[in-house]
Formats: sequence, structure tokens, C-alpha cells
Amino acid sequence: MENEIVIHNGTLLTMEQGLPVIKNAFVRIKGDKIAECGPAVPGRNWEGAALIDAGGGIIMPGLVNGHTHTPMSMFRGLADDLPLDVWLHEHIFPAEAREINPESVAKWTAHSCREMLAGGITTCCDGYFLESHAAQAMADAGIRAVAGQGVIDYPAPGVPDPSINIAHAKNFIEKTRALSPRVTPSIFCHSPYTCSKQTLTAGKNLARDNGVLFQIHAAETRAEPGMIKESRGLSVIAYLDSLGILDPDTLLVHCVWLDEKDIEVIAKRGCGVIHCPESNMKLASGVAPVPDMTAAGLTVGLGTDGCASNNDQDMFSEMDTAAKLHKAVRLDPCVMDARTCLKMATIDGATALGLGDVTGSIRPGKAADIIVVDTTGLHMTPMHDPYSGIVYAARASDVLLTMVDGKVRFKR
Ligand SMILES: [Zn+2]
Repeated sequence: MENEIVIHNGTLLTMEQGLPVIKNAFVRIKGDKIAECGPAVPGRNWEGAALIDAGGGIIMPGLVNGHTHTPMSMFRGLADDLPLDVWLHEHIFPAEAREINPESVAKWTAHSCREMLAGGITTCCDGYFLESHAAQAMADAGIRAVAGQGVIDYPAPGVPDPSINIAHAKNFIEKTRALSPRVTPSIFCHSPYTCSKQTLTAGKNLARDNGVLFQIHAAETRAEPGMIKESRGLSVIAYLDSLGILDPDTLLVHCVWLDEKDIEVIAKRGCGVIHCPESNMKLASGVAPVPDMTAAGLTVGLGTDGCASNNDQDMFSEMDTAAKLHKAVRLDPCVMDARTCLKMATIDGATALGLGDVTGSIRPGKAADIIVVDTTGLHMTPMHDPYSGIVYAARASDVLLTMVDGKVRFKR
């Protein structure tokens, strides 16, 4: 018989249509799936089920970290407060050349998974080199993950000869498929300026042939549109579109330097976008036009980016930052309200990754990816609105329990 668990005595945010708030709710889990949820029924007998008392806290779907480089937790705080080119060329690239190997990737991915699970993240979208070792560590940690093999036209850890980067990525996809039902392989072409036209096209074709997500950093820094305009005569987005790369299975990360036309193109092609406000702020990359993107109907998720540019993988602070940053730059307190930000961190992020039918909300039939957040802290009291509480007041350390596929992976 399948294991049955009932989480009860909490306020439920399902993140389903209409964003209901269900007080004194329960969620029944059967095996790895959500079987039932709703308001408590007095006198109902849960015989045979293991009971988890939410202690009056908030029960909600696990958070989706739409963009990270998990092994980079090894570089947390290594080089801060520097211009991007100095940071990258004088610190990060040399450190990567020195420190990245199968053992360090496995060790620090496992570390990042512990950090994410403790902070209520049940799904992450990763991209790095030696990704098969990261994928194994993510599978072992029990987190749901999209594991993207890094592709770049320079010698990289695990792929010293860039001419075989696509063949290497193909092998990665085949190998990772068999690893765990929770880990989905993906191709992560680093950027339009570190991958040639041929590499980008071959990477996308490989992703398309295998039905996997194609990820790319796009229009991150102010210099990038100029570089692409000079070499390709097009905006970053128009260039990627000219290569036939943009479709609903392509994930565009950052999208800071876009114009109206670019947003129209992304909307037309149906690509997901991941917004990483803290990384963009720390590296002084700029502010992505997220309110314009959501107004145009784009699916935008949230991501922490790697630890070298954040310096943590905390989706609570990422939501808080996203909500406040755009209000300040637009001089408009109504943009990026708490509900929008929580959607970005859950169901919209899951949809952007192609996992919208699997995770990101609480609905019978979906994976039991659920967290419980403590609301008894002084900073959480009183709780007039649970959406505001989660986005503006809660901290990662308020997470009491994190469940992925019906298994408790963190408990405080
Ligand atoms: Zn990144």
C-alpha cells in the first residue's frame, strides 16, 4: 500500500487559479502525489495516515529557483564588490580553472541542495560544467532539478576541447535520463557572446531532438546588446530569433537589456524568462523590465543565480527584492505586488521550466512538493495577509518542513 501523509492545521496557499487562501486546511498525500486538499472536515478519521501538524503555519507549494549554478556555492564571498569583467576574468574564471573537478562539483552541489531544501526550495534549474556530477548530487539530495550541461566555445572543466561540446552534451542527456525521475537533463548554452552561431544552433537542435529545455543567459549586461549589434547587426533577442532558437522550450535568463520589440518577440515565441534581481543588482547589470514583460503576458520566474553573485540561494529574499526593486525604479508602489512575486517563485517559475503540470501549485494529481512556513515569529505577527507575510516578512529560516515527491527532505 502507498504511504499516506496528511498535513493539517495550517493556512493553505495552493497557488492555483484565483489564489485562494484556505484557513484551517489539510493536504492529503498518497505516495509521491497530492491526493486531496481543502478545509478541515471536523471528525474526519485519518486512520492509517502519518499526520504532520503544521502548527498554524502556512502550507504552500515548494519554491522554484529558476536559475542557479549549484557548485558555485564554493565561491561564496570569494570576490565581491568588483566590476563584472574584473570579477569574471580575474577571479571567477581563474578560480573555476583551479577548483572545479568532479569531487568539488559533487560536494558543493550537495551543499547547495541542503541550503535550498532548508529554505523551502523544492525545484531548481541548474546550469554548470561537469554537470553529470551535479545531477548525481541533486538526485541524491532528493530535490527536483533541471540539470543543464554547460556549453561554451572555450576549454571548460570536463570539456577541454570545445569542438566536442555538443557531443559531450548529447552524452550527458542520455546518461542523466536514467538517473532519477526528479532530475531532468537540459542544455545550457552560456550566452550569445560565448557560443558561436553554430554552437547555439547545434545546442538548440540537440535540445529539440531530445525534448529537453534549452537555457541561455541573454541580455544580462549593458555591454551585451552593443556587442551583438556590432557583430550580428541585431538585438540579442532578434539574433537568437534569427537562429530559430526561441520557442516555449527555451528559457531566457536575466533579460535585463530588452526593448519593446524584444518583449513582443519573446511573447510571440512563448519562451520562459527567469528574473534574478539580486544577482543583477550585485553585479550592477541593471534592472530587467519585468512589469512590462508580465503585462505582455510573458511567463516570468525568479532565480537566485549562483552563489558567487548573490551570495545565497534564498528565494524568500529574492521575492522580497523583486517586489521592492521595481517599485523603487518605477516610482510605483502598485507594481510587482506580493501575489505576483509569489506566483513567480512557484507556479510561473515551474511553467517557465516546462514543469507546470508537475509542480509549483497544490492540486490533486500533482507531485507532493510542499513546504510549511512558521508564522509564530515576532516578524510574522500579526498575519493580516499570508501573501504579504511570505513575500515581505518571512525568511528562509522560517521554513519548518520541505517535502519533495511526498518525502520529507528538511525538517526544523
Ligand atoms: Zn547565471
